[in-house]
Amino acid sequence: LQGLRNKIVTDGTFPDFPKPGILFRDVFAITRDPESHRTLNEIFDYYSKKAIERGIQAVVAIDARGFLFGPVLALKIGVPFVPVRKRGKLPGNVRSVAYSLEYGEAVMEIQEGSIQQGFKVLVVDDLLATGGSLRAACELITKSGGVVHECLVVLELLDLKGRNLISAPVTSLLQF
Ligand code: 5GP
Repeated sequence: LQGLRNKIVTDGTFPDFPKPGILFRDVFAITRDPESHRTLNEIFDYYSKKAIERGIQAVVAIDARGFLFGPVLALKIGVPFVPVRKRGKLPGNVRSVAYSLEYGEAVMEIQEGSIQQGFKVLVVDDLLATGGSLRAACELITKSGGVVHECLVVLELLDLKGRNLISAPVTSLLQF
């Protein structure tokens, strides 16, 4: 894990992106480097074995960088992968929830019928900042009849205390 953290520090840290004052942590610094990517995959192998033991029945990941990791975990666990996306991207009937961004509001959506009733869900994203996105995803799952059992993020920005917004346990692999 220390090696992955160093990758983010050396190759994946961008001051003033996308706006002045924001220190952006770029998870693609890991995927760009095959050795780091493989290490992350091995961590996912371990996490998935435990998730199977805990009875996880579906994986939900958040648009867009959550999609780098959610499907991989769903395959390893052997359960459905279901996307939560920004407004207007999912076809068919959708359930929506509004959530606040740093400036203004956004809407996340999930397809109706995509989560089986009572299923234990693992929610995945690349990074936890204020927690607004993850909370919105959890709300969509709960409204769909699923049970948010746990959340997994690769990076957590500790200062923002995003995990305080989430009622399910949150695991982060790397903390900044
Ligand atoms: P939150 O809703 O927790 O404030 O923000 C988390 C969401 O915004 C995640 O979906 C994440 O992809 C994106 N995000 C916010 N800040 C960063 C950052 O520094 N790096 C990356 N990779 N994503 C970020």
